Order: sequence, then C-alpha cells, then structure tokens
Amino acid sequence: MSSDLLRNLNPQQLEAVTLPRESALVLAGAGSGKTRVLTTRIAYLIQTGQASPGGILAVTFTNKAAREMLARISAMLPVNARSMWVGTFHGLCNRLLRTHYREAQLPQLFQILDTQDQQAAIKRLMKSLNVDDEKYPPRQVQYFINANKEKGIRAQHAEAWDDYSRKMVELYAAYDEQCQKEGVLDFAELLLRTYELLNRNEVLREHYQQRFGFILVDEFQDTNRLQYLWIKLMAGRPRDGEPGCVFAVGDDDQSIYAFRGAETGNMRELERDFAIRKVIRLEQNYRSHGNILDAANALIRNNQSRLGKNLWTEAGEGEPIRVFEAPSDGNEALFIVEEVQNLAREGMAYSDMALLYRSNAQSRVLEHALFQAGVSYRVYGGLRFFERLEIKHALAYLRLAANVDDDGAFLRVVNFPARGIGARTVELLQAASNTGRTSLFHAAKAGGIGGRAGASLAAFIAIIEGLAGSARNIQLPELIDEMLERSGLRAHYQNEREGADRLENLNELINAAAGFEPDGMDNEEADDLSSFLAHASLEAGEHEAGPGQDALQLMTVHSAKGLEFNAVFVSGLEEGLFPHENATQSRFGADLPAQQVSRSQQSFSQNDGIEEERRLMYVAITRARQRLYLTYAQTRMLHGQTRYGVVSRFVGEIPEKLCKWLTPPQRAAAFGSFTPKSDLWADVRNDGARNGGYERATPGPKIVREPSPNYGGLPFAIGQNVRHAKFGEGVVLACEGRGTDTRVQVKFRGEGVKWLALEFAKLQAA
Ligand code: ATP
Ligand code: MG
Repeated sequence: MSSDLLRNLNPQQLEAVTLPRESALVLAGAGSGKTRVLTTRIAYLIQTGQASPGGILAVTFTNKAAREMLARISAMLPVNARSMWVGTFHGLCNRLLRTHYREAQLPQLFQILDTQDQQAAIKRLMKSLNVDDEKYPPRQVQYFINANKEKGIRAQHAEAWDDYSRKMVELYAAYDEQCQKEGVLDFAELLLRTYELLNRNEVLREHYQQRFGFILVDEFQDTNRLQYLWIKLMAGRPRDGEPGCVFAVGDDDQSIYAFRGAETGNMRELERDFAIRKVIRLEQNYRSHGNILDAANALIRNNQSRLGKNLWTEAGEGEPIRVFEAPSDGNEALFIVEEVQNLAREGMAYSDMALLYRSNAQSRVLEHALFQAGVSYRVYGGLRFFERLEIKHALAYLRLAANVDDDGAFLRVVNFPARGIGARTVELLQAASNTGRTSLFHAAKAGGIGGRAGASLAAFIAIIEGLAGSARNIQLPELIDEMLERSGLRAHYQNEREGADRLENLNELINAAAGFEPDGMDNEEADDLSSFLAHASLEAGEHEAGPGQDALQLMTVHSAKGLEFNAVFVSGLEEGLFPHENATQSRFGADLPAQQVSRSQQSFSQNDGIEEERRLMYVAITRARQRLYLTYAQTRMLHGQTRYGVVSRFVGEIPEKLCKWLTPPQRAAAFGSFTPKSDLWADVRNDGARNGGYERATPGPKIVREPSPNYGGLPFAIGQNVRHAKFGEGVVLACEGRGTDTRVQVKFRGEGVKWLALEFAKLQAA
C-alpha cells in the first residue's frame, strides 16, 4: 500500500517523507512540494503504524491552508479527521484551552476577542483608569501589549526604559487583569496562555509531549518567537534517546510576516535546538511553467538577505507572462473581467483562476466590474467590500442622512464610535418610540433623556441633521468625506492597531461614490445618495457564490500563501500600492513614536521593508501554474481624486523576454522623472495618508510614464487642466467616443466629477 503513497515522489521528497523518527528541516522554494511532502509524511507515518492519527500535531497559518491539508490527507487514507490535531496555531490553542480550561484558570465558556474587541477593551480600561488617551493612544497600547505577548513576555518582565514605557507596562498589567476578570482572551493570549499552562503543569506537559510523537509545521518561515517556543515545548526536550521530533518545511523567500515579528532566524534555532543533521532541499518545481518560474527566480534574486536557492522545472516554458497597462483602475478591472470570461469560455473553471491584490481596499473596483459582468466570485480571507464592518457603519450614517427614520441604521451607529450611549438609553428610546409611534431618531429628538447620555444623544442628532443638510447641498464624494469626519469613524480607525486596512476601505468608499453613475434603472426622482445606497445594498447581496459553486477567487497576496491556480492575475502593480508605501517608508517608524518601537523592530529597516514586499511578489507570481497576468493602471482614484501611478519596480525586475505586453499602442513609455501637470497633485502630495511612490522618485529600474499627450487620438490628455465657463477649473479624468459623440470626464474643483459632451461643453485647456 505505502508504495502507492510514495510512487509520485522524487528522490529528495521520498527521503523527506520516509525519514526515520528524527527532526528535519525541508528548505525549498515555492511549488517544490513542501506541503505535499508534509501531508504525505503524515499519511505514511499512520499507514506504516509509526504514528496513530491522535499522535500527529500539524500546524499551518491560515484556516484555508489547514482545510486543504486535511483534505489532502483524507484523500490519501481514510482517517477520522477530528482525531488528528491539524490546524492553525490559534485553532489548536483554542482546542487545548477548551479541554483544560480549569487548569488554565479560565471560565468554561471563555470568549475570544478579535482585534477590534481588544481595542474596545483597552479603551474602556483606559477610561476607567482616567488615562490620557492622547498621550497614550489606545492603538499604541494595543501594539505594545501584543508585541510583548508575541515574544512571550508578561507585563512584569516587559522592558521599560522611560516614563512612557513604564506607563505602557502598567496598562499592559491592568489590561490582563481586566481580561482575566471578564473571562476573555485576545489572539496572542491564546498562544501565550497555552504555552504558560504547559510550562508550569508538568503532568499536562508530559501528556502532550508523549502524545504528539510527531510535530509537523508548514510555512515554518513565518513563525514568530512565541510560536517557536510553543513548538519547542510541545516537542519536549531530548531525553533518553527519545528526542522531540519536529518536521518543519519552509521557504525563506516566502517569509511575509517579518513586520509582525516572524523570524527566519527560527530556522537556524531549530537546526541547533533539535540537532538537525541535514537540511533537505527540493529544487524541482512541479507547479509552474518555465517562464513563470524564471520570472520568480529573476525577481527574488534582487533580494540581498536570502539563504539562496534556485528552482527548475521539467515543464516547458509555457506561455509568456502577460503584462497589461490600463489607463485607469476601472479599465484594469474591465480588462481582467474580459480575460476571465475568455478563459472560462476556453474551458477553465472559475475556481482555477485567482485575482490577487496587495491591499483589501483594491477589491472594490474589481468586485464592481465582476458584478456588472455577472461573474460569480468569492472573496477569501476577508469580506466582500460592501459587507465589511466599517463600510456598513459608514453606510448606516449615509442611510440616516437620507432618511432619519431608518431605525436599523440608527441602532447600528448611535453608539458607534462609542459616545457613551448605553443599552439602557437605547431601551428607553425604543419604549418612547413605541408609545409615540415615531422613529428612534424622533424619539431621541423629543428629549426626555437627561444626564450625559442625553447630551451624547443630542450630539448624535446634531451629526445626523448636519449630514442630512449636507446631503442636499454637496456632491456625494464630499458628503462621504464629511460623514467620515463628523461621525468620528475616521478618527476611530486611525487609532486602531489594525485600522489602516479599514481606513483604506473607507477612503475607497469615496472613490466608489466619485465613480458612481445612476444607471437609469433608478426611480427618476431618486437623488444620488439614495441611488448610491441602493447600489451598495444590491452589490452586497448579489452574486455571492454559494458553497460548492464555481467562482473566481479573490484574495490578498497574503491570503494566497500556499495555494495554487491555473491562472493568476496580480493587479495594481504600482509603486506605493505594491510595493506598499509602508515598506518604502520605514515600517515601524512611520506611525509610532520612537519610544514605542522596541529595539528589535528598529532594526527592521526600509530595505527590509522592500525585501519583504519582494518576497510577497514572489509569493504572488509562484501561485500560477500556467498563466500569469501582471496589470497596473496609469491613473487610480484616491480619496475621490485621480492620482498618477508609476509602474511597480517589480515589473521591471522581470526579464523583458519572458513578457508579452498586451497594452495598446498608446503605451508611450517615457523614461525619466515624472513632472505632474495637474494642480490636483498639490492635493495628492499633501495627503500624507497614501501618496507613497506616486510622487517619489523611485530607485531601481524606472519606467515612468507621462500621461499620454493625446490619449487615444482625443482632444484632451488625461490629467490635463481644463476650464469650463460654468464649472470652473478641473482636470480631465477620461475621454470616450469619437467626433461629435466625444465625452470627457472632468473632476472640477468645486463641482465634483462630471461627464461632459465635448460638442456642447466648450471646454478649454487651462
Ligand atoms: P508553496 O511554497 O507555494 O507552499 P509547496 O512547496 O508547498 O509550495 P506543493 O503545494 O506541495 O508545493 O506542491 C506544488 C504542486 O506540485 C502541487 O500541485 C503538488 O501536487 C505538485 N507536486 C509536488 N511534488 C510532485 C511530484 N513529485 N510529482 C508531481 N507533482 C508534484
Ligand atoms: Mg506549501
């Protein structure tokens, strides 16, 4: 039987799978069969009777990867999946703590705090202790706590070097006390608690050490300090000829969590701690065609700090890598949708195609185009744009601006962000609204609630009334901008440790509004705001592919780790987006005061940031089996305004001979520095939030493009300044049509974005 399992392995893989009971490290590039070796080894150990399913502990990083791992094992031999401990670090810790909640001094039904819950808990604590949250921003307190926990350091041992850090340590201790009192655990606590439990409880420790005769770790390069210590503890110390046995597979070139404290140094420690005699290397890639692999190899060679390896494949060179430069982010999305549909027509299943992006917010434009075309898609490792929590909060404010009687929206945001309106007040309001047969808004407006809650309610009412007034007077994108300010949503997410993504999404909502055009299906009377809200709820509900349904896969590059697809689109390849601007600035220095940056993080320099982005690009490229598309846009909406992109340095790092440029002839490449023509640049430049590489001269290969002087043979260039008799000055965003049908899209300074028929508009170059 076992020969069946082993039949399709190359000699190095075979060696790894059938190693006797000893610790080993498999260090190998993408697609070389690491996960396959790991799962096959599990099946082999069970089949040959060396291990029982219950004696296996296998750990990986994402739920999707853990599910795949289980599926691959079950396909090889019939085992009860529940009896094996296969999962993520958090999942396995949760399982262990649920079993031993008493020993861990937890209530049986302990709750897990996600990042947002944790933030809220910290705020509540600081309020009760009267700590100045301007001096000690909650987001930084959260960062401090988690960074310490991830290193296995409790408050009493945390490093303090001045008054500021001493206060942080104090808050850390108080926070842990509050969590313990309330019976809740944050993510890092799950691991640390398990670690401490086993460390102090010898009986349990020996039980698990003996039970898990084989510990297998996938994506080992991304383990942080605490995870490594956890593995070490589970494996047990070498004793009477029975050493702990860890089988780790990883790829230093795919380490993409260094900014969160992952340490490739763990590989060296593993070799030392577990007396690993030999590192097994796999160099044959079975996933990708030659051109794709060559591209990945060439790209990653630009990184200085690597252990060094090269992959080869027996598969032919395959198709060239398709590169597409789109005039705008909208066109980029349209191109991708068309290609996806073409591939589907040629017989490729949608689920064999993946659409990858660097940041979650980028999915909005792509989702919109897919929705319009009726292509089913599924978003992994995150929610679809209009279903994301922060977007729902924002939409609730807009719904109230359109209709103050929308009780659902009222309930959602009356106390979000927290403004001291508690459940009791809401109950009183609901009673008043029942008796008076009015909406909650009007019940609140009628007064009757005194004290602090009454004052907060009055302030909330004022926000909504202000927004309702603005809704009648200003354009949608400006309204959303105003709403984000007045509601406090922007400030709320600015203060959150992981709020950057959510902020990007909120800003993306402004873009959605700027690009929004009512489609004529709407009621004639509907104003822009109502049509936009209708559009948002429609896009949220429809086209979610049901379980098992064939659907295009959308995800960030981070979530794509370990997966593979026949066709892969990597979109948004622009400086500032990918590589992300956070990497081109110093990652930790950018938004944290110096005293918040611990010593080890200070050593994470700008160059490390770029190298990590490059590894991320390497991960993206190596997901593809047969076909790879790289796309980027000349212009992209940012906060409702257009900004001009510079192609990502990573595109330039791929040898030209591997690529086929699909871009139409207007791709007039101009080398040299890019002089912005538009006045909007002043705005873009002043916007510290996300300008990134869009303005900076970038090192490395420069392929910088001027806005084409006469784009597509039309009378105005994209990005050109123009003047209109009525609307004043603006900038051309797009041109469409020919001759008397020509339409021009212009962003006016005071009037927002408008489409104008050129024949009538009397537009002049400014
Ligand atoms: P990543 O670094 O991206 O996680 P990996 O090293 O884990 O990649 P796998 O996912 O295990 O690689 O394997 C890549 C693909 O190659 C899979 O489809 C796998 O089934 C296939 N493969 C691996 N080894 C062989 C082999 N010896 N013969 C045929 N196919 C193989
Ligand atoms: Mg893998």
